[in-house]
Amino acid sequence: MGIAGISGGRLRIDLAAIAANYRLIAGRVAPAAVGAVVKADAYGLGAAEVARTLCEAGCQLFFVAHLGEALALRPILPAACRLVVLNGLPPGAEALCAGAAITPVINSPEQAYRWAEAARHSGERLPAALQVDSGMGRLGMAATELAALAGDAPFRSAVDPVMIMSHLACADTPEHPANAAQLACFKAAAALFPGVPHALANSGGAFLPADFHADIVRAGIALYGGAPNRGDPNPMQPVVGLEARVIQIRTIAAGGAVGYGHSHVCERESRIATIGVGYADGLPRSLGNRGAAWHAGDRLPIVGRVSMDSITIDVTALPSGRIGAGDWVELIGPHQSLDRLAADADTISYEMLTSLGARYDRTYAPATARQREDAA
Ligand SMILES: *Cc1c(COP(=O)(O)O)cnc(C)c1O
Repeated sequence: MGIAGISGGRLRIDLAAIAANYRLIAGRVAPAAVGAVVKADAYGLGAAEVARTLCEAGCQLFFVAHLGEALALRPILPAACRLVVLNGLPPGAEALCAGAAITPVINSPEQAYRWAEAARHSGERLPAALQVDSGMGRLGMAATELAALAGDAPFRSAVDPVMIMSHLACADTPEHPANAAQLACFKAAAALFPGVPHALANSGGAFLPADFHADIVRAGIALYGGAPNRGDPNPMQPVVGLEARVIQIRTIAAGGAVGYGHSHVCERESRIATIGVGYADGLPRSLGNRGAAWHAGDRLPIVGRVSMDSITIDVTALPSGRIGAGDWVELIGPHQSLDRLAADADTISYEMLTSLGARYDRTYAPATARQREDAA
């Protein structure tokens, strides 16, 4: 966490907006429950702060990608909160996972039998989420493999299936025919475990028809303000504000070039502001000569290549004196959404957020306990 005022950029994370987004999704999909996906440090926003906020908002179910991420969150969440590891059970980690009361996703029969073995060792029935691949072709068991587990009495007595899950490949595109095909495949497979909750939808799925919501929705990007679908106006509250500080403004003569490779040549005399964030701060090189920063209501185009620690923007259109060294420009905020910046960078909100990294002066609103202590 940066000391206030000495970083090239500042990142503001609105925890109240995350809680509001949680409630919006919960209201939309009720009576289905909403679990929060807080993998990759809650998409770069701080897993501890985000998980605490969502827990206070009533969330009892959290998903991470790796066992290590679950172990880091376990001490800060109440025992009643379930932590589920999406990438499954790493070989040899069964005792660690069981001892920390973490629920693995079982993605293969081999993982299932290892987990059942661990349960027999521990003398307790152990919880698991069972994943069926309904057509994404990434993780999970074939329906026939799930059927074999359903009929396996020793497995059933050792392992307590707490959910049957699958993942949608095209949920952000509501009209995509793969959605209905995956739903049908999932329903048929999940019926093998009557009475066990079903979980299919991610953020995009939460905005598909109610059939897709099943019993549990796993929401990630929408909690963090990203648009759950393409095209639709984004119903979520913005969560992230990102600003960069102007470190210098230079006048470049007509015909003068800007940045590495001289990829921008000024057609007329130009004022070029250099701002103190670059690709090491998660602003991809694909923003070079594309996209913009904003100052008040003015769009300031990015010119030249993105450097490691700086970006150059053309401020010629602003009246002289309107902007100077030490001023801040907006990269994500009221004038430019996370999805807009991501699109200009030829990527998606998910990659944008998870790339942001640790160099910013980071503030949470409302302030977290740690920030209140630091301020005291
Ligand atoms: C990352 C992930 C999610 C969350 O997806 P969003 O689109 O961010 O809501 C849900 N389920 C699984 C299996 C995931 O890997």
